[in-house]
Amino acid sequence: MSKQHTMIIGGGIVGCMTAMELINKGHRVTIVERNQIASQTSGESSWAGGGIIFPLLPWLYSEAVNTLTHNSADFYRSLSQQLEHETGFPSDFAQSGFLLLPKFDLEAAKTWCQQNQLSFQPVKAAAFGVQSPSGEDGLWLPTVCQIRPPYLMQGMRKWLEQHNVTMLEHTQLMPLEEMQELNEWQTTSGEKLSADQFVVTSGAWSFDLLKETSAKLNIKPMRGQILLYKPIKNLEQMVYREGFYMIPRLDGYLLAGSTLEDVGFDNGVTEDVREELRIKAETIMPELKGQPIIKHWSGLRPGTPENLPTIGAHPTIKNLFLNTGHFRYGLTMAPASAKLIAAIISEEKPSIDATPYACAY
Ligand SMILES: Cc1cc2nc3c(=O)[nH]c(=O)nc-3n(C[C@H](O)[C@H](O)[C@H](O)COP(=O)(O)OP(=O)(O)OC[C@H]3O[C@@H](n4cnc5c(N)ncnc54)[C@H](O)[C@@H]3O)c2cc1C
Repeated sequence: MSKQHTMIIGGGIVGCMTAMELINKGHRVTIVERNQIASQTSGESSWAGGGIIFPLLPWLYSEAVNTLTHNSADFYRSLSQQLEHETGFPSDFAQSGFLLLPKFDLEAAKTWCQQNQLSFQPVKAAAFGVQSPSGEDGLWLPTVCQIRPPYLMQGMRKWLEQHNVTMLEHTQLMPLEEMQELNEWQTTSGEKLSADQFVVTSGAWSFDLLKETSAKLNIKPMRGQILLYKPIKNLEQMVYREGFYMIPRLDGYLLAGSTLEDVGFDNGVTEDVREELRIKAETIMPELKGQPIIKHWSGLRPGTPENLPTIGAHPTIKNLFLNTGHFRYGLTMAPASAKLIAAIISEEKPSIDATPYACAY
């Protein structure tokens, strides 16, 4: 029997992770990407992300969001080992822990940790060598992990190559019209691409791709900017304070971010945000004063209300599926989200309830 051919539109973390799951289920897979997979190009979110494998303040999110983040977190440890073993690319997975600094709802945080069996400890920021401007206690979450998105993407790309995934790069698909069944999808250069089924994993661009169809996607780009510092001291844990975070990489480089900006598809960086992030970083770590910022970039997140992605069948087009709209936590949610869509496509019973993620129309 010939293999099912599945075409994935978008080669970010969600598309690549979906491809891995479908390969493991025996599909033949093609990824169509308008730029280049696993490289920093124009605005894609996956290369640009911070890589914290945790929803910053999980008690603010719905059970549907927490189900995906929780079911993915454990998987990253084994995935990073597998990728390094099979491709030679490390993902820089690290259990660096997460220090939450005030102000936040400490009681809600402690209750959530207890209910979700997550280790926690109320602490003084000074014990970690950072400043808590309010002087109040913080919360230490020692088991929270990180990955390094550009490295992870390189490892996944190599793995997909090893498993004969066809990558049609620099190939952009046209917006789709309403139809009963999708047999061919036209590129902007007029070529018609065929497959047995298609999966939209096009991040912030998904709305435009499907807006002429009956799928009502509530997705819009939300820009995030990040600064990169050279290592100046051994900050070992990730730190969060009032929407801002710092992530020390294994080689000591330090990320400081990010922003949530509703500026359409503008993927530039701005001087005022650079200054704002620099001041926030120096408030927590005064040693950063005068240190050069060696890189400043942005990415366009696929923004959705309540941070809830759409994962499931298109409401009317028979062989079209969606896995998109992961907003702030696509890196965290991608593994569970990919397992869910792969089960739905393969008509298997998913290990989590798919109802909250179904496509509205
Ligand atoms: C600054 C920043 C920090 C972040 N930090 C974290 C974090 O710490 N933890 C976390 O979990 N998440 C984080 N995120 C969010 C996370 O990066 C995103 O949720 C995730 O990358 C979304 O992945 P995606 O594959 O859906 O989208 P993308 O990576 O944007 O990929 C979509 C792809 O589709 C392609 N495409 C679009 N239209 C077409 C078309 N018509 N034809 C062909 N290809 C097309 C695009 O070129 C793109 O490559 C962060 C994001 C940003 C910007």
